[in-house]
Amino acid sequence: MTVSGPASGPPVRNWAGNTEFSAHRVQRPESVEELQHIVGAAHRVRALGTGHSFNRVADTRGDLVRLDCLPPVVDVDPEGSTVTVGAGMPYSEVTAVLHASGHALANLASLPHISVAGCCATGTHGSGDSERCLAAAVTEIELIGADGELSRLSRRSDPERFPGSVVALGALGIVTRLTLRVEPAFEVTQHIYTGVRLTELAARFDEIYGCAYSVSAFTDYRSGEARVWVKRRTTERDGRVRPPGWTGETPADEAHHPIPGIPATHCTQQLGVPGPWFERLPHFRPEFTPSSGDELQSEVLLPRAAAPEALEALRSLGERVAPVLRISEVRTVAADDLWLSPASGRDCVAFHFTWVKDPGAVLPVVAAVEEKLLPLGARPHWGKLTAMEPERIASLYERAADFRQLVRERDPRRVFANDFVDEVFGLG
Ligand SMILES: Cc1cc2nc3c(=O)[nH]c(=O)nc-3n(C[C@H](O)[C@H](O)[C@H](O)COP(=O)(O)OP(=O)(O)OC[C@H]3O[C@@H](n4cnc5c(N)ncnc54)[C@H](O)[C@@H]3O)c2cc1C
Repeated sequence: MTVSGPASGPPVRNWAGNTEFSAHRVQRPESVEELQHIVGAAHRVRALGTGHSFNRVADTRGDLVRLDCLPPVVDVDPEGSTVTVGAGMPYSEVTAVLHASGHALANLASLPHISVAGCCATGTHGSGDSERCLAAAVTEIELIGADGELSRLSRRSDPERFPGSVVALGALGIVTRLTLRVEPAFEVTQHIYTGVRLTELAARFDEIYGCAYSVSAFTDYRSGEARVWVKRRTTERDGRVRPPGWTGETPADEAHHPIPGIPATHCTQQLGVPGPWFERLPHFRPEFTPSSGDELQSEVLLPRAAAPEALEALRSLGERVAPVLRISEVRTVAADDLWLSPASGRDCVAFHFTWVKDPGAVLPVVAAVEEKLLPLGARPHWGKLTAMEPERIASLYERAADFRQLVRERDPRRVFANDFVDEVFGLG
């Protein structure tokens, strides 16, 4: 086992470096048994994924554990159409193996370097009118509970409470393996349309987002223009070829990075060249580090129907937002039944913001953005910055009280407690 942390080096920070964890140390067990022992003996402990969240959701006053020294697992069950993966593995280590077996995950986030468990714990999503967040693919969870015992939860065996256990913010235990639903591997092409007016994006929102399997718009609220990433499956799930809908003007004939002015070397292949799902759905290639963490992020998810009004509201903030904004992205996410998923019970439009790394300048602008979007039904992303009061966040979720109850039942000793979750859910 490897141990690191304040006693033996610099403080433990997240990927962006904007959060210094209060953890005493980071432990890296090499076996599940070793991990069980750590949990069983702990006063406070919490899993850290790849540390890509921008807030204190992964923090603990005890020890952090990382699962990256556990033996990797990618176990495909073709008959059950599932894959069981090591929870601490990044998607980038899962997808190529899965593809080689002839299978695919339905969707991916923009970055493949993020851990499967961390993404599922926070309701991380990609884009696509019919595509749900990544956690919606989970059919079974293997986790170590507060007593150090290993157990399995599945949708089949506990359909009532399973939806409360997937997007669980690390509060129910250390997830060691996740079983995910898979489908036959598919190919995707990627085209970029530049110079799309935000007024057109708002007026033709359903047409534009419905024109392909996965659509993202990178928006500039000052100039009033967007660049639209259109990711088309070469054949849909039912084998049909989707008729061309909105096609914008002529697609770009050179590759683009989401942030204007940055070379597209780190981006997945564009220009309409077909390729496997896992090399097209994320914006960034697995073999490159897309950025050094020199950024902050916030994001809110709104009911999809609010998209035109939200675009209009953000346009009115264009001058305020521009000096601290690196890029903004608008995506769609299909509804799911997971209690704490920001898309729980409603099809969503997600407004993401990559900010400069200057919290003092950025947080007032995040507050101004949220002031405009909260009345439209916004829920903040669990892994990003928000200016919302914690207790207000819980009020945005119908099943918040049920989640609180679940935490009390599964973790009576509050081994996995942290201030972030306690403040949001009034657990204290
Ligand atoms: C460059 C970049 C791009 C991003 N792109 C997207 C995107 O496209 N879409 C989107 O929705 N979000 C995106 N995010 C946000 C990101 O997906 C979330 O912050 C996600 O939680 C990060 O995963 P992680 O492994 O780093 O989790 P961490 O930040 O390490 O942890 C997040 C939570 O998961 C819990 N956790 C982690 N591992 C386990 C485990 N084994 N058992 C139990 N709990 C666990 C932690 O305790 C914590 O509560 C992006 C972030 C960055 C920095």
